[in-house]
Amino acid sequence: MAILLDKSDLRRPDRATPLVAIRDGVIFPRTEVVLTFGRPKSINGVEAAFRTDKKIIFVTQKNPALPNPQEEDLYKVGTLCTIDRILKTNGDVNALVKGLKRVRLDRVKIQQPFMVAVTSEIPEIEEESEKVTALTKHISSQFKKAVNLGKSVEFLNFMKLMSGVDPAELADQIASTLDVKTREKQELLEMPSVKERLEKISNYLSHEIKVIEIERNIASRTQKKFDKSMREAVLRERMKTIQKELGAESEDKEIAALRKKITVAKMLPEARKKALKELKRLAQMSSHNPEAGYVRTWLDAMVEMPWSKRTPNNVSIKHAEKILDADHYGLQEVKERITEYLAVMTLKRQQKPAKTRKTSKKGKSKKDLTQKEDHAVATILCFVGPPGVGKTSIGKSIARSLGRKFVKMSLGGIRDEAEIRGHRRTYVGAMPGRILQSMRTAGFKNPVFMLDEIDKIGVDFRGDPSAALLEALDPEQNKEFSDHYLEVPFDLSEVMFITTANILDTIPPALKDRLEIIRFSGYTEDEKYHIAKNFLIEKALKANALKGKQVTLPEKALRLIIKRYTKEAGVRNLEREISKVFRKVARGIAEKKHQSKSVSQKTLFDYLGPYKFSETILEKKDAVGMATGLAFTQAGGDILFIEVAIIPGKGKLILTGQLGDVMKESGKAAVSYVRSRWKELKLDKNFNKKVDIHIHVPEGAVPKDGPSAGVTMTSALVSALTQIPTRREVGMTGEITLRGRVLEIGGVKEKVIAAHRAGLKEIILPKENEKNLIKVPKEVQKDIKFHFVTHMDQVLKLALKKVKGNGVRNKTAKKPQVHSRPTLSA
Ligand code: ADP
Repeated sequence: MAILLDKSDLRRPDRATPLVAIRDGVIFPRTEVVLTFGRPKSINGVEAAFRTDKKIIFVTQKNPALPNPQEEDLYKVGTLCTIDRILKTNGDVNALVKGLKRVRLDRVKIQQPFMVAVTSEIPEIEEESEKVTALTKHISSQFKKAVNLGKSVEFLNFMKLMSGVDPAELADQIASTLDVKTREKQELLEMPSVKERLEKISNYLSHEIKVIEIERNIASRTQKKFDKSMREAVLRERMKTIQKELGAESEDKEIAALRKKITVAKMLPEARKKALKELKRLAQMSSHNPEAGYVRTWLDAMVEMPWSKRTPNNVSIKHAEKILDADHYGLQEVKERITEYLAVMTLKRQQKPAKTRKTSKKGKSKKDLTQKEDHAVATILCFVGPPGVGKTSIGKSIARSLGRKFVKMSLGGIRDEAEIRGHRRTYVGAMPGRILQSMRTAGFKNPVFMLDEIDKIGVDFRGDPSAALLEALDPEQNKEFSDHYLEVPFDLSEVMFITTANILDTIPPALKDRLEIIRFSGYTEDEKYHIAKNFLIEKALKANALKGKQVTLPEKALRLIIKRYTKEAGVRNLEREISKVFRKVARGIAEKKHQSKSVSQKTLFDYLGPYKFSETILEKKDAVGMATGLAFTQAGGDILFIEVAIIPGKGKLILTGQLGDVMKESGKAAVSYVRSRWKELKLDKNFNKKVDIHIHVPEGAVPKDGPSAGVTMTSALVSALTQIPTRREVGMTGEITLRGRVLEIGGVKEKVIAAHRAGLKEIILPKENEKNLIKVPKEVQKDIKFHFVTHMDQVLKLALKKVKGNGVRNKTAKKPQVHSRPTLSA
């Protein structure tokens, strides 16, 4: 493997020494190194030297990458060494080399099998000076420090250096260990002055130390950083665990509190089971789980429901009567009906235990029985009447007299069953239905619960709210009222439901069946005066922070407000107008315009402006084709003027004014009746074929229905056809048949009061309604002349102006404007 050269091939000049280039690193004199050679030329050179005097020159290549360096590729200064030993391994030659001297390459011969060079020794400049001594010492300690900091050196070399060597040796030895570039080492080799070399080495060493120190620093900082982040990670983990522990604990507290609330709430067994199940689910949920929020809201709703809390049931009729009287003027019939109702309730309570004794033996507690009693008497009251007649305030008084809570829920415009019964929990923002929400507000399971405007409830595609309402009101079902949100039945059987409505017609029949109707008719002027005097003024004083003596509202002024500033069945606007007057008085006092005020007619003008309503709403003149009817609307009784126009045409009947089916039929019946009486009325037999008849009922925007306008329509029609004016001060109401019979109608009291308010002097009523007059206040009756009739002929006689001759025809009457005017014989 090694190239064994023939001795003759060597052609070695005397002074020439084998030269071997080394790629990297510099060999210093006085140092020992083991070198490994792989290039054939190098191996040849080493072997040749080893075989002879063992002397060899090593020189460093300027560019370590060159495989076959030429003379110019080599530094000019090398080291004369001896080869102590050679060891061949796997084609490489390892040699223990000892550096002897610095030599300058004077001549180099690049040749095979190895290079040779002729060299001259570079004498070292050694001086003994303090500086050198100091430098030596300094370098020694620097070196020691560097080794301590982690500089790697051979242990033996180190020991030798530390035992004290001369400066030149120290310099070379340390130079060989320096962590500097080859070029810099070469520079050190080329320096003959030991002192300069020491200085340079010292610089390098201190630089090296600095680098090591920085490295260590970085290392330790990285370590620290690592340690720190390690520590933080560990702490964070611990914190998490602690937080978890803490969180769990606070959650536990919340769960415990909810559990306690569930126990206190004394829910129905099914509800309790469900609540506990949900509570368990909540306890297992992470607090970040969005579902936890829903469950919590649901549980809150559950525990706040009045499952078992009730106000004591102390029904005392005397006490109730007293309170109803104290809070309300008049309403005698209403109050009587209510006290009767309460009396029945008490009686049933007293009877029940005896009846149910059998059941009680079966193990039912007395408490269960009491609950059942309430259930059994839960007929539902329905207050029907126009707005402002005291339906709500009577409801409140009932609650007060029974010592129960009062809650009110308006049904007006509810079309969606979910409003009554709630949305399922899966809906975002779902809540219990309005019934259970009101129960939650009430806080007790036996409140007086007013369902307002039951006649305004609607039905559409979202489900029938009245069905849900029915379930809530039905004593058979409401013990287990189901709400979509709560999902568990709630007992409504102890609730005293009161419903209110303006009219009965629009209440769904199934609901109406279960209601006990109590009617509130409108107030007369006198009643309004007393209500205002006894109640409304007091309320208005309080509302405006006034004292009784600061304002006086004399009877005359109060009656003026009632008559000329309000036109209503109830007293809501009256209350508002009084409050308005008092507000102005209060402002005057605050602005120091007056200390107190007595309200005169003039003051009213100033405060409320000109009169809003004229003395009477009647037409000034008796008119043709118009009749005054009495109506019963949502706002109470009212008067209306039915108009009929006869226009050329082909016998069409036009009915306008938002009339309901029943009212339209009344119009048709009126026409048929008049046609059947053509002879008596002296009309052309076929009068209707040549004209169109238009019947209009103002006010066109208000829907109207009912059969009671029959007589009025007929009167107006006859007046239009005969051109005989009607008497404007006569009001009328009644249903007619095709043969002209006049039938009984409803709402007499309301209609009569309204007629009185409007200033009518005579009223035509069906004979069968005579009995209803008892309910009409006396002061109204005395102002009005009543005519009770059974037939339309009687009505016409009373309603149309008197004429000479047959009593129907008025001589002065103008001819009808139409060419087809019926011929009326005188
Ligand atoms: P409704 O519920 O019938 O629309 P409210 O009960 O709200 O009417 O009554 C309106 C106002 O009139 C309330 O302040 C009420 O106290 C008062 N009021 C109505 N009727 C009477 C009455 N008979 N006695 C005393 N105050 C009354």
